[in-house]
Amino acid sequence: MKTKPLFLVLSAPSGCGKSTLIDMILQEYCDIVYSISCTTRAPRGEEEDGLDYHFKTKERFEELIKEGAFIEYAKVHDNYYGTLKGPIEDVLAEGNSMILDIDVQGAAKVRDYVRKLPNTDPLKIGYVDIFINPPSMEELRARLEGRGTDSAEVIERRLANAEGEMARASEYMYQVTNDDLGMCYKRLCDLIDALSGRM
Ligand code: 5GP
Repeated sequence: MKTKPLFLVLSAPSGCGKSTLIDMILQEYCDIVYSISCTTRAPRGEEEDGLDYHFKTKERFEELIKEGAFIEYAKVHDNYYGTLKGPIEDVLAEGNSMILDIDVQGAAKVRDYVRKLPNTDPLKIGYVDIFINPPSMEELRARLEGRGTDSAEVIERRLANAEGEMARASEYMYQVTNDDLGMCYKRLCDLIDALSGRM
């Protein structure tokens, strides 16, 4: 079945299950491709170039900025992170969809970039952004504590960040709440199916 290529942007506060939901989507839809970011930070542990990130030198990253290759980029703790425009254009031109996992600030830059594109640009035609809400701040705290990976201080910081991010949820075209993973996933699939013309 021929479907409309989507440029899907997903944001969620840390602990909302976004990575799990994106993994489920990628397993279900063979025509949705995950956007791999570029970074100047060094690979950690088992991370692989071209799989986890496209690892670049600072010089190369700055060249790419000058060339206008990024749809958005940011400097975080002295390292650059960015999303290349080329791979998104290529994926959409092949009739497939691209999914971008990005924070609220990055998503705002992408939205701004897309807004300025001509109406005929495939990135603008296929653009959809979705914010995933936690069921409640109490539940988010319980999930972060339950993961057992973060210190109390990090959890407080993540919760404060989450509040700031949730305050901007209305900037998104769609919002879904991850109160139940299966239900949230179903809502995301229904949205993707409707927007790409699968049903
Ligand atoms: P990490 O170094 O832990 O993999 O990521 C650090 C931060 O960089 C995270 O907050 C992550 O969301 C952000 N990040 C990763 N890729 C991108 C990107 O393409 N653009 C922007 N703006 N931030 C990114």
